[in-house]
Amino acid sequence: TSKWGRAKAILKEFEEKCATPDAKLKQVADAMTVEMHAGLASEGGSKLKMLISYVDNLPTGDEEEVFYALDLGGTNFRVLRVQLGGKSGGIIHQEFAEASIPPNLMVGSSEALFDYIAAELAKFVAAEEEKFHQPPGRQRELGFTFSFPIMQTSINSGTLIRWTKGFSIDDTVGKDVVAELEKAMHRQGVDMRVSALVNDTVGTLAGGRFSNKDVSIAVILGTGTNAAYVERAQAIPKWNGPLPKSGEMVINMEWGNFRSSHLPLTAYDHAMDTDSLNPGEQIFEKICSGMYLGEILRRVLLRMAEEAGIFGDEVPPKLKNSFILRTPEMSAVHHDTSSDLRVVGDKLKDILEISNTCLKTRRLVVELCNIVATRGARLAAAGVLGIVKKMGRDTPEESGQETIVVAMDGGLYEHYTEYRKCLENSLVGLLGEEMSTSIVFKHANDGSGIGAALLAASNSLYV
Ligand code: ADP
Ligand code: MG
Repeated sequence: TSKWGRAKAILKEFEEKCATPDAKLKQVADAMTVEMHAGLASEGGSKLKMLISYVDNLPTGDEEEVFYALDLGGTNFRVLRVQLGGKSGGIIHQEFAEASIPPNLMVGSSEALFDYIAAELAKFVAAEEEKFHQPPGRQRELGFTFSFPIMQTSINSGTLIRWTKGFSIDDTVGKDVVAELEKAMHRQGVDMRVSALVNDTVGTLAGGRFSNKDVSIAVILGTGTNAAYVERAQAIPKWNGPLPKSGEMVINMEWGNFRSSHLPLTAYDHAMDTDSLNPGEQIFEKICSGMYLGEILRRVLLRMAEEAGIFGDEVPPKLKNSFILRTPEMSAVHHDTSSDLRVVGDKLKDILEISNTCLKTRRLVVELCNIVATRGARLAAAGVLGIVKKMGRDTPEESGQETIVVAMDGGLYEHYTEYRKCLENSLVGLLGEEMSTSIVFKHANDGSGIGAALLAASNSLYV
C-alpha cells in the first residue's frame, strides 16, 4: 500500500479503538457508580479510594480574617493570601505567587521538595503588607492543598498513599505530609499553623460552594484528573466516626485511578502505561488528563512516521523523545483555524524539527488531536454522569427542581476549549434534553487555593 494508505489505516484503527459512543459512556458511568459504592463500603474495596476528607461543613460565607493557602498540584505550585470579609463580605482581597516545581525535586528527597516549598512560602510571608498582619497573639493559619492521594487522619493530617503525575519520592510515602511541611517551615523560619489539609478537588468544591450554594461536585482537569462530591454520611459504610451534624461528608474520589473493562484503551495507552513511573495505576487519568494527552499523540505520530513515513524516509529523531509533545502545544495545534494550518506546521518544526510538512500531513495531525481529546473529554463526562447517578440525581423525578453545579478547574479545562466544549456537550447528550439544564458546569478559577484558605478559616484555632 501507499504511504497515505498505510497512514489512513493506522488512523482508522486508532479512531475505532478510541470510539466512545453514548452506549459505551453509559457503561463507563455505571461502572463508576458501582466502584463508588464499593470504595465507600470498605477500605480497599475498590480501585476508587473514595477518601474521607474530614470536611463535613462547607464554607458558609461567614468566614473572616486573613488566611494563607499553599497549593501543590503537579506542575506548578502557588501560595495565596486571602482576606475574608465575614457575613456577606465575600473575599475582600486575594493575591498569590506562583512557581514551577523544578523537575529534579519531583524525584529527589522529601526534605528537598518541602524545603523548596517552605522557602517560597517564607518569601511570600516576608512580603506581607502591614494591614494583613495578624492581631497580637494570633498565629498565621494555612490551608494546604496537596493534590495526591492522602489517607486523611483528621482535617489537618494525613499520610501519602502514593505519588502520581510524574512525582516519585519514596521517603514521603506513608508519612504525614503536614508534619513534613511543618518541619520544613520550621527549618525555613516560617511561623504558621496548618489548619486544613485538602485535596485540590475538595478545595475547589469548598471554593465553589462559597460563591454558589448549588455546587456539590468538583472536577479537576489539569496535569492529572480527580473529582470530589458531597455524600450523605449515612451512605459511607466504612466511616466509623461520629456522624457529622451536617449529615454530609465530602469524598475525594481519586477517580484518576478508576479503571474498567469498558474503557477504550489502545496499544499506545498500554505502552505509555508500561513505560510510566506508575504502571497499572491511574489508568483513567492517563487517558483523560493534561500530562498524557500530548504523549499519546506523540506515540501515534511515531508509529505513523515509522510505518508510513509520513514525515519522510527518516523518522524524525525528536519524535522518539517521550513527553516532548506537551498538551498545551497539542491544544494549539488542535485549535489552528488558519487555512494552511500554519500553527501546526510551526509546532511540528519548533518542537519536532520537522520542516516543510504538507497540508495533508497537517490535517492528519489535527485529526489525531481531535481523536485523543474527544476520547478524554467524553470519558470525563461519563465520570461526571457516574457521580450524578450515585447522588441519585440523574432523572427528572429525582432531581426535583434543583440544579447541580459542578465546579471545574485545572489548566486543561481552562485552556483547551475543544476539550471543554466536548465534555460539556457530551454530558448534555448523555443526560437527555429534559435533564440537560439541571447539571451546570462552572469554572471555579483558582478554587482549590481559595477553598483551602476558606477551610483553614472554618477550621481555625480562633473560631
Ligand atoms: P496542576 O494540575 O499542576 O495543579 P494546572 O491546573 O494549572 O496545574 O494544570 C496544568 C496542566 O494543564 C498542564 O500540565 C497541562 O497539561 C494543562 N494545560 C495547561 N495549559 C494548557 C493549554 N493551553 N492547553 C491544554 N492544556 C493545558
Ligand atoms: Mg492544581
